[in-house]
Amino acid sequence: MTDRPLGFDTLCIHAGTAPDPATGARQVPIYQTTAYVFRDADHAAKLFNLQEVGYIYSRLTNPTVSALANRVVALEGGAGGIACSSGHAAQIMALFPLMAPGRNVVASTRLYGGTIQQFSNTIRKFGWSAKFVDFDDPKAIEAAIDADTRALFCETICNPGGAISDLDAIARIANQAHVPLIVDNTTASPYLCRPIEHGATLVVHSATKYLTGNGTVTGGIVVDSGKFNWSADDKFPSLSQPEPAYHGLVFHPTLGNMAFTFHSIAIGLRDLGMTMNPQGAHYTLMGIETLSLRMQRHVENAQIVADWLEQDPRVGSVTYPGLKSSPYHNLAKMITPKGPGALFTFTVKGGYESCVKLIDNVKLFSHVANLGDTRSLIIHSASTTHRQLSEEAQIKAGAAPDVVRVSIGIEDVRDIIADLDQALAKATA
Ligand SMILES: *Cc1c(COP(=O)(O)O)cnc(C)c1O
Repeated sequence: MTDRPLGFDTLCIHAGTAPDPATGARQVPIYQTTAYVFRDADHAAKLFNLQEVGYIYSRLTNPTVSALANRVVALEGGAGGIACSSGHAAQIMALFPLMAPGRNVVASTRLYGGTIQQFSNTIRKFGWSAKFVDFDDPKAIEAAIDADTRALFCETICNPGGAISDLDAIARIANQAHVPLIVDNTTASPYLCRPIEHGATLVVHSATKYLTGNGTVTGGIVVDSGKFNWSADDKFPSLSQPEPAYHGLVFHPTLGNMAFTFHSIAIGLRDLGMTMNPQGAHYTLMGIETLSLRMQRHVENAQIVADWLEQDPRVGSVTYPGLKSSPYHNLAKMITPKGPGALFTFTVKGGYESCVKLIDNVKLFSHVANLGDTRSLIIHSASTTHRQLSEEAQIKAGAAPDVVRVSIGIEDVRDIIADLDQALAKATA
């Protein structure tokens, strides 16, 4: 082998892991243990002082869970990472070292519905708040940033409509304001986009989706680029000043580009407890081994299905950025050059009634509130996730009564189209 860095497909299989030092087991064992025996009192003291890296208690670290975090760190090109119990947990864990009562995050209006909910209501209980603005409008982002802003937050490929965020432009604004840009890369996966290369400071994932890939795990990951200078000013005292929650340790610059990661483990996981379990980490590691192959097929199928739908007289419009008709078509070529994901919406002529009939007549597609499965999935947001909203609010959220969202799977694309074809026939008869 040469000194050339390992390719992405190789990292998917090997990064973060080595044959088990105790047994030689080739696959990563599921370390189903809560605690780890210290060699002696001195070893224990060094671990608790963060002078030596090792295992103490599985709420903090576990070898199977660390293998997963390290693998995703390698795929995203980061410095360190933390595996968490869900995507939503990862979002809180990403914000936790940055925020304090009175501080805010400036977030895109085009976020996963659950994130809008988490940011609108739940984080207020911590004294944090979110300001939602249109991230297609750089001036609006700049105008929303104030002296209390501690992060910008957006998604690479936005759920549900598949809009693409101009990460480079957004990162420039974050840089200028000296606040970290957090990118939720769930719907792209590092195969389609590596946000750190576009200037992101932190990347978060719902590992529930494409990383695991088959709808078996609820999990999340935070990846830190290691590039942000937390002690350039006094905005991030948890990282740059003596941290009372860890006997006065100054995480940055003491721990260098691992400051954020160590803070997240030593304090975030310790006190919030949003820890991933080793069994879940094992499933996600298995999933990631085939990430490249799956994502190739996901985008290939999504393009064929979107092309077919756009030609169909029973369909109004299709939002897939792989279509020339999408306003994000050119941006997608820069941000997601291997393909703009497999998540998009389309409108059905006949409105709400036709959409409900479509959903009730699909056979291969599953009617579920999930995405990023090997299986093709469909949901009619207006009658489910966005049911409580007024029609006006539904339209604003991209979930108008005549809109259905699909997550295109990796089945034989002819079967995917045949299923939509027969269900559309019944829906619009
Ligand atoms: C699903 C999802 C989340 C939340 O992840 P969970 O694992 O369900 O907590 C966050 N962001 C996006 C884009 C998602 O699709």
